[in-house]
Amino acid sequence: MAAENIETIVSLAKRRGFVFPASDIYGGLGSSWDYGQLGVELANNIKKSWWNWLVYERDDIEGIDSSIIQNRLVWKYSGHEDTFSDPLVDCRECNARLRQDKLEFETDASGTVKYECSNCGSTNLTEPRDFNLMFRTTLGAASSDEDPMALAYLRPETAQGIFINFANVLNTSRRKLPFGIAQIGKSFRNEVTPGNFIFRTREFEQMEMEYFCRPEDAPQLLEDWIANFQNWFASIGISAENLKLYEQTADELAHYAARTVDILYRFFPEREDEVKQFDELMGIANRTDFDLKTHSKKPEDAEGRRLNIDSTEDLSYFDEATKQRFYPYVIEPAVGVNRTLLAVLMDAYTEKINDKGEKRVILKLKPELAPIKVAVLPLAKNNSEIVEMARKIKKNLQPAMRAVYDDTGGIGKLYARQDEIGTPFCVTIDHESLQDNAATVRDRDTWEQERINVNELKSHLQKRLL
Ligand code: ATP
Repeated sequence: MAAENIETIVSLAKRRGFVFPASDIYGGLGSSWDYGQLGVELANNIKKSWWNWLVYERDDIEGIDSSIIQNRLVWKYSGHEDTFSDPLVDCRECNARLRQDKLEFETDASGTVKYECSNCGSTNLTEPRDFNLMFRTTLGAASSDEDPMALAYLRPETAQGIFINFANVLNTSRRKLPFGIAQIGKSFRNEVTPGNFIFRTREFEQMEMEYFCRPEDAPQLLEDWIANFQNWFASIGISAENLKLYEQTADELAHYAARTVDILYRFFPEREDEVKQFDELMGIANRTDFDLKTHSKKPEDAEGRRLNIDSTEDLSYFDEATKQRFYPYVIEPAVGVNRTLLAVLMDAYTEKINDKGEKRVILKLKPELAPIKVAVLPLAKNNSEIVEMARKIKKNLQPAMRAVYDDTGGIGKLYARQDEIGTPFCVTIDHESLQDNAATVRDRDTWEQERINVNELKSHLQKRLL
């Protein structure tokens, strides 16, 4: 089972403390969201899973954390100043501001393309104009918007921070091709039409990895990384039936990319047209040698690209074995933390009817991702011995796994609350526990209960959390 629409998740997320509307007490701020006590844990666990898998479990990837604000020249040479824009149109009927590339269109007999406003259906739209998506800011106390020396941007992607550190990492890590550099961090885009909850926001978080390789190995590596990411999504609980590959067409490809395959997720299951149910979760691109070349001091320019007169470094690579110097190609798997979190929540969402015929929500998160791994619940909160035993057990478990103590309701209500936030196990302490030093372990998905000796509780849970 999975959520039938994003609205189901919006409501659960707000009700239980995953995601709140930002600036809510001041009337909100369009398409901005704050992550609450459970959302931050889930996001951290997604990031940890990605980082462990790429940086720790493999032997060919290093991690970095670069600045959000860089020298403006980074964005000049990356191409963002000139080309990182969306075609903006205004509807003359209803004044909606729209992205032309996302609109429905018709072609009439004369071959003229007519776009239709997604708000009111009118075709009375202005001509498109380019709107640069980078957020501008100014640096320093005496700076003004008009001073080009003070102009700076919030990064629209984490990737460029990796390219400009290529030589630093290469030289200090003594890596040889192929190898990758991974980074997780916030990115900012002044999106024309943000929306659909956390799917598209102006501030978001990316997990990007740049895998540097020989040009001739790039096509196969792109295939490998598609398969690797399909496996990673499966490992974090996203079912294959809700994923789809999409090959970008020549028209859609970014100017630097030789090939890009997007992995789409079924974010909109309620839509009738199956194709429209899916939208981008991540992109995997063969960015060729564009990035390292463009940031290099006066690179060779066989393709007629502009020479870089500002960089002080050459980012080429010298192959000891063949004695050749060249610019490595790059395969980039780029995935959004927020879209992954949304996909994980949608896929984990399950409804179940209990003995009394009541509907219960269970979030079947992979234990690795669950914000809370175990809730320790006293059956009688007025019995001080039971409460003390429960609190002690919570304390013993906490260094090994995220554990909480809760006595703020009857046991049925406490179980339901934990099911709804995806806690894999509840441990209940009752009167008998005081006699036999055992606790009841309840499984979130099956609701089955097992009696476990308290001394073995930690290792029992650790095994089942794997
Ligand atoms: P889209 O076509 O949806 O605008 P994109 O192709 O521009 O996305 P990339 O530049 O490839 O996105 O960024 C990599 C990933 O970062 C995306 O697949 C997505 O998961 C995430 N991402 C990009 N823009 C946003 C955004 N505005 N809000 C949330 N996540 C985003």
